[in-house]
Amino acid sequence: MAYKTINPATNKLLKEYQQHDNAYADKALDTAHQLYKSSWSQDSVASRVHILHKLADLLDDNNEELARIASTEMGKLIGQSRAEVTLSANISRFYAMHAQTFLADVPYSSELGEAWVEHHPIGVIMAVEPWNFPYYQLMRVLAPNLAAGNPVMVKHASIVPHCAERFEQLVNEAGAPKGAYTNLFIDSSQVARLIDDERIQGVALTGSEKAGASIAAAAGKNVKKSTLELGGNDVFVVLDDSDLDQAITCAVQGRLSNAGQVCTAAKRFIVHEKIADSFINKLTSAFSSVKTGDPLDESSELGPLSSREALDGLAEQVNKAVSQGAKLAIGGEVIKGPGNFYQPTILLGISRDNDAYFEEFFGPVAQVYVVKSDEEAITLANDSHYGLGGAIFSQNIERAKKMASKIETGMVYINSPTDTSAELPFGGVKRSGYGRELSDLGIKEFVNQKLVVIA
Ligand code: NDP
Repeated sequence: MAYKTINPATNKLLKEYQQHDNAYADKALDTAHQLYKSSWSQDSVASRVHILHKLADLLDDNNEELARIASTEMGKLIGQSRAEVTLSANISRFYAMHAQTFLADVPYSSELGEAWVEHHPIGVIMAVEPWNFPYYQLMRVLAPNLAAGNPVMVKHASIVPHCAERFEQLVNEAGAPKGAYTNLFIDSSQVARLIDDERIQGVALTGSEKAGASIAAAAGKNVKKSTLELGGNDVFVVLDDSDLDQAITCAVQGRLSNAGQVCTAAKRFIVHEKIADSFINKLTSAFSSVKTGDPLDESSELGPLSSREALDGLAEQVNKAVSQGAKLAIGGEVIKGPGNFYQPTILLGISRDNDAYFEEFFGPVAQVYVVKSDEEAITLANDSHYGLGGAIFSQNIERAKKMASKIETGMVYINSPTDTSAELPFGGVKRSGYGRELSDLGIKEFVNQKLVVIA
């Protein structure tokens, strides 16, 4: 795909970017590999993290400009774009402060002698990242790997080249040496070609299942480690003893934030029959009052989808769900006009033989299921190919904790939609992928955990 900035609120083409050819990518890989072989990578963690401190400050200083670029390029509400830039700065600062501790030697008690595990960089990491969080996704890979000493090369999504370019400029301005972080405007076949190169030692992808499977196959063929953060079909369980008003506020936020284009968005609402009517009425009423509009307008509450293709795909999914028997409580239409706006939508009565039952809806479309018991809620939650996040609402924390332990996902939040923060691991199971980003776990994905024993 060609790299282009198209404003999704108007569908106006703002700028086209030149694709990098293989010679450019090879030169960039050579520079990154030379850096890995140099003292920069092999020196202590402490010698590199000043770059992350500086980068965090630069992100904070340029928050408004970066936020406007993201909102213009992929349609995120301006307030949410500012929050994303702040979160990215926090992740940078977090690894600047804690990477040394995370990568310290770990002693092991053994009959074979004095033993410990050291953490060493492994080489250049190839990252493939999506448009939905155009800075945060980059930072999740850059910060831990820069601290660990792994140079990073990134292929960002083709619809967010301005975000990609500006982020790279700031990393350079923060003092990263040439090769530590390289943005590449390349296509899928060029990514596969780079993964075949022995100088690439690890591959990280966030995106669709299809892209993940393709990247993982390329990595596997070359016996290289990969991490995959793919889609999700997260449940949002509302038990009969929950604080309903709190649950509704969180449901709106959990489903509509980022126009519903979040891997961990609340997508399947599972509600206890005792409160089901009340929940559906309140959610319908809340969705009906949401103000859709220009993401740069501070008063907008729901922005456009990221692209015309995303809008068409979502509209087709909803139409198909309805033709297979689902009922619309509200919404179900593309909003007429130049941008990619879709009505906040609620689907009811989805049976297991409806394709929608197993599909992820990457947009402002909620599915509501009614259950009679906690056991039924758990069975329904786990009847999914995905296993990313999930949320449970109840005032009985012990009851919610019991349920949380039985839900087959990488993350469960109680009385909050699934969230993210630098210090907490992020990732899933099943077809949502494998490996973890962020926290102490994220920084250990691409390091050599080397055992040394003195007999
Ligand atoms: P994609 O998976 O197609 O895009 C994500 C990234 O992967 C982009 O940089 C894309 O590049 C790249 N890519 C796609 N195919 C390949 C490949 N074969 N080899 C190398 N790189 C590849 O996601 P879409 O934007 O098409 O979104 C479709 C669906 O993906 C969504 O509906 C959602 O289900 C899921 N998704 C999940 C995300 C998450 O956060 N887990 C984020 C985004 C999407 P390019 O842009 O050039 O195609």
